[in-house]
Amino acid sequence: MCDGYEYSRHCGSTARRDFLKLTSTATVLGLAGGSLLGGPACADALTKGQRDRMTPEQIIEAMERGNKRFRTGERKARNYLNEQRASASGQYPAAVLLSCIDSRAPAEVIMDLGIGDIFNCRVAGNVENNDILGSMEFACKLAGAKVVLVMGHTACGAVKGAIANAELGNLTGLLAKIKPAVQATTYTGDRSATNYAFVDAVARKNVELTMADIRKDSPVLAELETQGAIKITGAMYNLKTGAVEFFG
Ligand SMILES: [Zn+2]
Repeated sequence: MCDGYEYSRHCGSTARRDFLKLTSTATVLGLAGGSLLGGPACADALTKGQRDRMTPEQIIEAMERGNKRFRTGERKARNYLNEQRASASGQYPAAVLLSCIDSRAPAEVIMDLGIGDIFNCRVAGNVENNDILGSMEFACKLAGAKVVLVMGHTACGAVKGAIANAELGNLTGLLAKIKPAVQATTYTGDRSATNYAFVDAVARKNVELTMADIRKDSPVLAELETQGAIKITGAMYNLKTGAVEFFG
């Protein structure tokens, strides 16, 4: 954990505060986060105070702007050693993500986030299960994260496998959890795994169904959302454009 004094003590000439921290500071100052991107800053980890001052909507906005920096080639220079040292004795992540294992969709990279900013659950096809729900409940109820984000992506191999009824060891059971999205997707035309428009439509539906499953299967998270303490939402990452489209 790092307060203002520690920022000034640790801050090096090349270090910059990451976007979540910029947004948090902007919130305190009553400024738009984007206006502070060029200012002097230090890349220590997100503090409890900074995280707690942010609303779920502001956290989502910070991730949106981080993705914009990523896809426009303006990622922040950051000092991972400072982030590692500052977070070693405590973590205050702002969100918990559920995303696919796909090697081309690493959440921290594509949203320009640092060490300690988010919890990250990854499983092929970003489907939920009891262990992931338990992880999310820990993240939100005990550790204070305010956003649950389910992030699918285009051209998802797991979704293609579910559409094509692929079978392989334990993968068969995993793909079975995606198949309800195949049936639930309204699409006129070629409903095969070789039609990327259909594959992406199923991936989007799969995110929606996973969000509904989280609310249904986790009374802990559903109650937090009803109270306004957290927001459960979804997103789709486009492998070709680098853009993360947030559902809202
Ligand atoms: Zn995938």
